[in-house]
Amino acid sequence: MSLLIGVTTYGRNEDGKFELPGEYIDAVRRAGGVPVLLPPGDTQHDALFKQLDGLVLTGGGDIAPGEYGSPGHDTVYLVDPERDASELYLARKVVESQLPTFAICRGMQVINVAHGGTLHEHIPTEFGDRIAHRAPPRRPTPHEITVKPASRLRDITRESTFVCQSWHHQAIDTLAPSFTVVAEAADGVIEAVESDLNPWLICVQWHPELTAAEDPIQQRLFDAVVAYAKEKKSGV
Ligand code: MN
Repeated sequence: MSLLIGVTTYGRNEDGKFELPGEYIDAVRRAGGVPVLLPPGDTQHDALFKQLDGLVLTGGGDIAPGEYGSPGHDTVYLVDPERDASELYLARKVVESQLPTFAICRGMQVINVAHGGTLHEHIPTEFGDRIAHRAPPRRPTPHEITVKPASRLRDITRESTFVCQSWHHQAIDTLAPSFTVVAEAADGVIEAVESDLNPWLICVQWHPELTAAEDPIQQRLFDAVVAYAKEKKSGV
């Protein structure tokens, strides 16, 4: 069974190119899915959406603060209205349609904002610098994750604590209704959430694609969304 997994790309760069780190593609392929790149700006999302068996909402720059009612913060960077519009639309659709979806970093923030949540715009302002969630100037850095028992994330990762690669500027503040926090960092930053409405939606704040080639815990997350896609498509 071919399982088409949409993977959102970054917005246009300075040269007008849509880009995406290859690690996302590699991880979906290792899981047995067929990745289909989805650049922002499509006007026929519904038609495309019907063809997908699963979706990965990828990492990237900050969401425009106005999308969650904030006047903004001077550290907000790489705002891309075209990408925000496409991904916020997809984020609403995946819950109502119960599409198997893996939302990573910015992807988790997009899911939260699309469903009425808000973001901390600059983590050190709220949480201090006890734990680095990215390294200067903008690089990944490792920190530990604690997963709540009795969560789908715990079933998927099979671990209650592990080290991830963290690479985020912002974090969930107000959680969207009908979502549940299922993992945190030691400073209390929300690191993963689940939806009461779509049991096939996995949302994490860290970057599993960066280490999935070597770390089975991280690859299991990609394996899970492709397994969900198969389960849904075969109607089990
Ligand atoms: Mn983090």
